[in-house]
Amino acid sequence: MLKTEVKRLSLAHTWTISRNSSDFKDNVIVHLEKDGIKAIGEAAPNIRYDEDAERTTKRVMDCRNLLAGSDLFQYQELKKQIDTTITDQSCAKAALDMAILDWVGKSLNVPLYKMLGLSPQDAPLTSYSIGIDSLPNMQERVREMAHMPIFKIKLGKENDREIISAIRAVTNHVIRVDANEGWKDKEQAIKNIEWLEKQNVEFVEQPMPAEMLEETAWLKERTPLPLIADEAVKKTADIPHLAEAYHGINIKLMKSGGILEALSMIHIARAMEMQIMLGCMVETSVAISAAAQIAPLVDYIDLDGNLLLADDPFSGVKHKNGRLIYRNLPGLGIEQERN
Ligand code: MG
Repeated sequence: MLKTEVKRLSLAHTWTISRNSSDFKDNVIVHLEKDGIKAIGEAAPNIRYDEDAERTTKRVMDCRNLLAGSDLFQYQELKKQIDTTITDQSCAKAALDMAILDWVGKSLNVPLYKMLGLSPQDAPLTSYSIGIDSLPNMQERVREMAHMPIFKIKLGKENDREIISAIRAVTNHVIRVDANEGWKDKEQAIKNIEWLEKQNVEFVEQPMPAEMLEETAWLKERTPLPLIADEAVKKTADIPHLAEAYHGINIKLMKSGGILEALSMIHIARAMEMQIMLGCMVETSVAISAAAQIAPLVDYIDLDGNLLLADDPFSGVKHKNGRLIYRNLPGLGIEQERN
């Protein structure tokens, strides 16, 4: 049995990045029940990829008969069929992939990370993202979250340098920068990056628009900081041509369409000697816990989506001072829906 529900998630603070601003997100929770085992997945539709909750719900339900008639243990073959059935709304694929793997883990009574042969202690520390806001508000957020060892600062507006100077004035913790495609001019972009390097920034995510690959390759020849692709990369097939322009990739389950595709991306990126980051959208503990299952395989993680919510309706992997705390629970390790 397959069911979906749209959950409106209020954000703790208005979330602003270079291209848009929001106070809530409508995510789609997927419930899968078979042979008495209940499993769960989550889709976080993103307007940047032309996704919304309504079409995502429809795509998930397009797979109802496929899942009902399949052996869920054959999840590799099932992925191929889901990939054929769903050709847009990759977040819908992600929700199904999570729910199927949650079901398999619960059937075997083993956490997914164990099924994959991974140890939670190998997961890197997560960053905490600071959205664009007034300088005092951004400083306040950093002070509130002073226990987090790494901050990811959203840039890509006119006052980028003022923002970083203001943040540096209140923390000496690691700073990463995400321009979210906000810099449109390569000469300006390289000046920004050279300046950021002097502020002890660790790397820059998606400095220029995804389609400006040549300009980004020009940047890569000159940049003192690693460049990480985010909007430019969704799935495995995108990776090979990005190596000339980026030092690494940011994998997100919502872009890849789930954990299985993310694993394939990790292998290809490793073969190309690229750095690997594992990120998220604004998500509840369901999708964050799903991503956490493969976090031991990557170099950097940014799995803070549930920390940005006013109220996370689920309970799964927890955070402690930037470290992910895993529960020894089967599947994705989602304990229960709260309330
Ligand atoms: Mg990003």
